[in-house]
Formats: sequence, structure tokens, C-alpha cells
Amino acid sequence: MNLRLACVALLGLSVSLGTAAQGRPHVHGEAALDIVIETGRVTVQLETPLDGLLGFERAPRDAAERRRVDAAVAALRGADALFRFTPAAGCAIASVELSSAALALGHPDPGEAQAGHADLDGTYVFKCADTARLTEVDVGLFNPFPGMHHIKVEVAAPRGQFKRELTRPAQRMSLVR
Ligand SMILES: [Zn+2]
Repeated sequence: MNLRLACVALLGLSVSLGTAAQGRPHVHGEAALDIVIETGRVTVQLETPLDGLLGFERAPRDAAERRRVDAAVAALRGADALFRFTPAAGCAIASVELSSAALALGHPDPGEAQAGHADLDGTYVFKCADTARLTEVDVGLFNPFPGMHHIKVEVAAPRGQFKRELTRPAQRMSLVR
């Protein structure tokens, strides 16, 4: 077993240490999504430990790790593959912002750093032709990130707020209460 695999195995055992920037528990393999649906607009806030994206939670130390980071960032910027909304709603990505202190990405919360653990936050804004026709979303996070197993979702829609969960390999989630 090489060193990186050994680190992945060790990180896999640590659960729920520290607290994420927005007060969510830091659980390896888990992601949190906040989905806010407004007229003509959907905002998705992603928060996840780096471990589920990279297998490590610090700046890359060599070329192989740098490639891993670049691939993860490219996948996370691919909003159209990560969040596929009901086609009739006519949603298209308007902006993507990623931030992670450990990866020197974006504009992270300076209070985010925590001993041995690190997160990544993403904000995705979609403009939609008709959010009244938005009934579901396919979340594509499990495909590019084998280390991710569970997604906890909070939805705020015009008709109320509710929670959803996705466990690998499920992708489709109702956005109707
Ligand atoms: Zn961690």
C-alpha cells in the first residue's frame, strides 16, 4: 500500500470531527446541499469535506495530487452535469463559485481552517424560464466522486421547506413537497 492509499484509509475512519464553516457537521463521504427555489431562479449551495472529493484534506503535495485537485475542480465547475433540473423548467447555469481554504480556491471563510480537516463550498446559480414547472433534480455528484456516499439536502421552495436525502447510487430527487 502506498502512502496516499494509507492516508485515504486512515481518513476514512475519522468521522464528524470539527464543525464546518456554516455549522454543518464535517462527515467524510457526505455532502450538504441547500437548494433555494425562487421565481425564475434556483440557487444551490454545496458544502462537503475535501476527503470525499480528493481522498485528502490539504493542499496537493505532488503532481499526481495536483491533477486530482484539477479534475475535482473541473467536475465541480460542470454544473450542467451535477444538477440536471426538470427540462420543462428551462434552467441554465448563470454562475459557479467554488471556495476552499486548503486549496487556495475562491474566497473562503478565514475561520474555516480546522486541525486536520478541510471543506469545499460551492454556490451555483441557475436562471430558469419557468420554475413553476420544476419538479425534480438529478444530482450527479456520485459519478465523479467515488468517495461520496450520502447527500443531505434542504430545499426552500415557494410552497415550503423540506429535507431530502440521497444515498449512492440514487440521483433523482423530488423538489415538490
Ligand atoms: Zn475531514
